[in-house]
Amino acid sequence: MDLLVVGSGFFGLTVAERAAEAGRRVTVIDRREHIGGNAYSENDPETGIEVHRYGAHLFHTSNPTVWEYVNRFTDFTDYQHRVYTNHAGVVYSMPINLGTINQFFRASHSPAEARALIRELAGEFDVKEAANLEEKAIALIGRPLYEAFIRDYTAKQWQTDPKNLPASVISRLPVRYNYDNRYFNDTWEGLPRDGYTAWIERMADHPNIDVKLGVDFFDSAQALNKGASVGQVPIVYTGPLDRYFDFAEGELSWRTLDFETEVLQLADFQGTPVMNYADADIPYTRIHEFKHFHPERADRYPTDKTVIMREYSRFASRQDEPYYPVNTADDRAMLLAYREHAKGERDVHFGGRLGTYQYLDMHMAIGAALSMWHNEIA
Ligand code: FAD
Ligand code: UDP
Repeated sequence: MDLLVVGSGFFGLTVAERAAEAGRRVTVIDRREHIGGNAYSENDPETGIEVHRYGAHLFHTSNPTVWEYVNRFTDFTDYQHRVYTNHAGVVYSMPINLGTINQFFRASHSPAEARALIRELAGEFDVKEAANLEEKAIALIGRPLYEAFIRDYTAKQWQTDPKNLPASVISRLPVRYNYDNRYFNDTWEGLPRDGYTAWIERMADHPNIDVKLGVDFFDSAQALNKGASVGQVPIVYTGPLDRYFDFAEGELSWRTLDFETEVLQLADFQGTPVMNYADADIPYTRIHEFKHFHPERADRYPTDKTVIMREYSRFASRQDEPYYPVNTADDRAMLLAYREHAKGERDVHFGGRLGTYQYLDMHMAIGAALSMWHNEIA
């Protein structure tokens, strides 16, 4: 073995695939019983509809290197993500665009009129100086739209005072003064034509890659555990950063999600892939309806059944799957201390969402893994 990769998500698999192609013998371990990390999907046994087990995953990128790389393993459909949100029993389109603004204010503003209105409503904070999520959101869209569409959804998603959340969380959402209601701004977008798992399996399918599932790096009963491997072989570690150092600096805070999946005897539940629920009285943040991600599979999917998944967010304990880094000021200070520890680990390379405590989209995880391979490991 020339390289041990801990974690078979997109970060770990990308490094493993590159190393294998370069002639290195790579072992990939994962504590789960399947590869692919959180992008893993499977077909629901009753309906055959592809369900993303760890939450809906939409692929999008503007990075030509990443786009060329991922196309080696899968074709993409021409799916374009659009989201709607239910506020006070009325459905609006998200992200906030001219359609949302005019519907909310029961108006017919032109782009210039809408800009003037929002500028007037957003005056209390300056976009460039906004120090946290609340200030940034109000600076971008004004208080009425913030209170309708962002405040309570964010409270459900993070249970953290929006004044203590980084402004970057909300910067992920565009605000548009036209009727373009696409969720993403990226050059390329689509879903893997034959599913995430087929894509992931093709990345791992290499004679130089040996995948071992159900193996936890911290389980001393396993041959490939931390104590037995560090210093013996180069390691790419994509598990949680704080866990690696036995929580020596404290626990980084994460949000986890609970998913409630249901098969309904209906052709169509909500008419669209994702419906957000903006209000505090609905306990879930959104409902996914998976058949709508693949309209091109209409002839294969049942016409009398559909699969929906309600998503609930809460703080993660050590036993839960960590999904979203909360990133408060305390977390950021702790992260700096862990980064110092990481520098001292010889030939252990920390990567991915968990290993760097960063919210990374798939294209970012893949791009960062390609860079790590190229700049640090190759
Ligand atoms: P992961 O996929 O989390 O993989 C890490 C792997 O390490 C896991 O398989 C885990 O089991 C394993 N591991 C951890 N600890 C150990 C251990 N001790 N021993 C062995 N193995 C271990 N991105 C998008 O681009 N579009 C989206 O729409 C999107 N939606 C998302 C929705 C949700 C709810 C979440 C949580 C993420 C979403 N993402 C999305 C992000 C996407 O999931 C990540 O970019 C991608 O999974 C990153 O891959 P990774 O390899 O860094 O981490
Ligand atoms: N958000 C919101 N209302 C919405 C959608 C998003 O307030 O209807 C906020 C919320 O704080 C969320 C952030 O915008 O965490 C980023 O949203 P995104 O849809 O990118 O989150 P993800 O899909 O990663 O959960």
